[in-house]
Amino acid sequence: GQCATVCPVGAITEKIEIKDVWEAIENDDIHVVVQTAPSIQATIGEEFGMEPGSVVTGKLVSALRHIGFDGVYSTEFTADLTILEEGNEFLRRLEGDKNLPHITSCCPGWVKFAEHNYPELLPHLSTAKSPQQMFSTLAKTYYANEKGLDPAKIYTVAIMPCTAKKFEKERDEMRSSGYKDTDAVLTTRELARMIRELGLRFDLLDDQDYDELMGDVSGAGTIFGTTGGVTEAAIRTVKEELTGEELERLDLDFRGTNEATVEIGDKKINVAIANGLAKASEILKAVKNGEKDYHFIEIMACPHGCVGGGGQPLPVDEQKKDARARGLGSIDETSSIRKSHKNPKIIKLYNEFLGEPLSGEAHHLLHTNYKERPKN
Ligand code: SF4
Repeated sequence: GQCATVCPVGAITEKIEIKDVWEAIENDDIHVVVQTAPSIQATIGEEFGMEPGSVVTGKLVSALRHIGFDGVYSTEFTADLTILEEGNEFLRRLEGDKNLPHITSCCPGWVKFAEHNYPELLPHLSTAKSPQQMFSTLAKTYYANEKGLDPAKIYTVAIMPCTAKKFEKERDEMRSSGYKDTDAVLTTRELARMIRELGLRFDLLDDQDYDELMGDVSGAGTIFGTTGGVTEAAIRTVKEELTGEELERLDLDFRGTNEATVEIGDKKINVAIANGLAKASEILKAVKNGEKDYHFIEIMACPHGCVGGGGQPLPVDEQKKDARARGLGSIDETSSIRKSHKNPKIIKLYNEFLGEPLSGEAHHLLHTNYKERPKN
């Protein structure tokens, strides 16, 4: 067809991955668990003629159940878990004045770029796995235990904003469950294609809730999908852990800015936020030259963060990306839980399975390492 001449590789791999997912769903022996990245609920509506930034969480869940997934969850749950692991890792680094600046690692586009171009900075990257990988690992361990399922018969699917997430799942290290942690990654557009293949009228679907076990999410997990969101989520947790005080005001509003200084107790924390690799290179150059002294740097490869990812609905422009980010922000503002460490299902997960943040089991399942790759 026409697409085969325009984008042969992309089109073929897309078709193969969608086919694999349909096959897993049709196999009664296999339990198929899906997770949706935080941004998808504010972007997929555009595929079905809805306004940019429309929040369609309930319809998204409903569509996934119609498709036939056995467990339907949000990656926001493990975004909260990433904050607990990475926030505590940052605190340790801060207290020991070690490996600072601390640099986020939840964007595989940035991680790969760093492996090729900034190998000397790899010890600064958080070792916490991305929320996608944490979710899949837990699906084949914690979730399998709780549900009494054989992990060999669990198939994990992630709905993600970009194809960098497909590369991430193939990394050798991503097998800490004892199996391939993530089996398939579909972009927002690929999921929309599956929904169309079923002939569903997305705009007419009823609103449904995510499944229970790993189902609670906080607004902090939601804003992972937009630039500045990870930093804001981390500061909410780190500040309370360091000072023991409840944060009174939650809208720290890093979204949109590139630099900020946050006072936590008697410490002043300098943060920098880069969305887009050009901006990241600028910030990293300033760090290497000793011109800047940051403690925490958030890097997302895509301008605007994941709401601007390459697998999101097309065509796209700046206004649409802004509207998507506002959509995510509105979910956070109205969430009853807005801090990752207050998520009751995360508390239960630590109490019953992981112990505490950075425990041996948490290290084994939720942390990873990076390797230098040839310069490109
Ligand atoms: Fe993917 Fe872009 Fe998000 Fe990175 S910022 S995870 S490359 S969509």
